[in-house]
Amino acid sequence: MILMQWLILLVLILQPLGQVGAPADALQEASAPSFIVRSEPSPYLAVGDIASFEVTAPPGLDLSEHSVTLSVIHPFIQELGRADFFPGGDRPFRARFPFVWDTGAAGAGTIMLQFSVTPAGWSWTEVIRLHSPPPQETDQQWAVVQLDCCTVHYVTGTRAERELDLLISVSEEQVLKASERMQTVLPEPVNIIFLPRVIGHGGFAGQELFISYPDVNYTNLNLEVVLHHEIVHRLDRELGGPYRPSIFVEGLAVYLSEGHYQEEDLVARSAALLDLGLYLPLQDLANNFYPSQHESGYMLAGALVHYLVEMHGYEAFDRFYRSIQPPQDGRDATAIDLALQQNFAITFAALEEQFIAWLEEQPFDADEQTNVRLTIELYDTLREYQQRLDPSAYFRNVWLFPDPANRERGIVTNWTRWPRYPQNQVIERLLEAAGQDLVAGRYISAEVRLDFIRAMLPGIPTLIELPYQPQFVPLFIE
Ligand SMILES: [Zn+2]
Repeated sequence: MILMQWLILLVLILQPLGQVGAPADALQEASAPSFIVRSEPSPYLAVGDIASFEVTAPPGLDLSEHSVTLSVIHPFIQELGRADFFPGGDRPFRARFPFVWDTGAAGAGTIMLQFSVTPAGWSWTEVIRLHSPPPQETDQQWAVVQLDCCTVHYVTGTRAERELDLLISVSEEQVLKASERMQTVLPEPVNIIFLPRVIGHGGFAGQELFISYPDVNYTNLNLEVVLHHEIVHRLDRELGGPYRPSIFVEGLAVYLSEGHYQEEDLVARSAALLDLGLYLPLQDLANNFYPSQHESGYMLAGALVHYLVEMHGYEAFDRFYRSIQPPQDGRDATAIDLALQQNFAITFAALEEQFIAWLEEQPFDADEQTNVRLTIELYDTLREYQQRLDPSAYFRNVWLFPDPANRERGIVTNWTRWPRYPQNQVIERLLEAAGQDLVAGRYISAEVRLDFIRAMLPGIPTLIELPYQPQFVPLFIE
């Protein structure tokens, strides 16, 4: 065994070091495809972390009935676990190892991990650094407030704790408002988890609701709107249906929240979008909802629900939506087409013709159109920033760890640690300021800031190329 470890060390010395987060190519066997391994918390692991790993297969590779085993092979040998690959819908197959390794007993230094895929027989190694615990990450823990409507969770020492009274009153108000609009109540208080870091666009809903409430809120979401949106998702899930296509899941949440990131006139904005030539054909949008241009998709989905409710009433829309059956060909547009014919005697294509003709008649002003264009540009830039400099925050990468067990174990670093290099701080402040400009109608200022970010981004090394810097050095003083 000792000889084996020396051999591994020799390989380490002779080869350039791979790093978790980068494609595993440095030490990979020639026959294995390129898997991507990400670790959480990010952007680095430190002694004391309960580490999680995610393995993503190359696009198009079918790994049904395959699993992957994860082991530490240096400086000690320990099998950490085995995970099955699962299909990712419009994304590649992935396998996840949540909270698989308690690093408390390991020392800081170089760690070598081995991944073995069976039955394919591929295996490769990844080299990571386990760092000393960062001094600023001490004493933070989960705290909870039990309300009638909901159970509010937050991390001590964060903005959520400082503004807890506000979060409590807005949560109570929005649960009530969404329940009244949807004529239903939750069987038990919903868990609302306020996170100190940005994830995605700031809100996610499953069985529990995750809302970003960071000090620098560069997604610029309106708190009432995002809470309402996520609560609608939770109630919608409760009401159920045999098959709920994403275009209507999101369309309903945006429609009932009267806006996407802010309260806004979805119909006027969709008319402005159409006039800009940025309209997305509905059948393609339904079949590829999440990969489509995000803001346009949500806006059109909300306007489409508005249109159907205006034509047929909310109850008839709700009956239609909850009657949609799983499509035989796996395409959402097929499922919607069938249900439209059964409920409203119209095909999806004919409905879209009417919808476009209706949009063409809707008034909008030049300011609204500028706002729509800049909203799309701002959030496209925000996502580019996340992909380059905080990939764990990019909405398609976010790993929520929905199991309440992580809170019971006291794990906070998945949410209290994130990249805070000077370049992250500068760009996040610029995104925040550009978003505030947009809300206030200062379009020239928003555009100047946006141009500045877009000019800077390509010149900044991506996160995986940056040196380790655990100590947070604030560039801005409140
Ligand atoms: Zn949503």
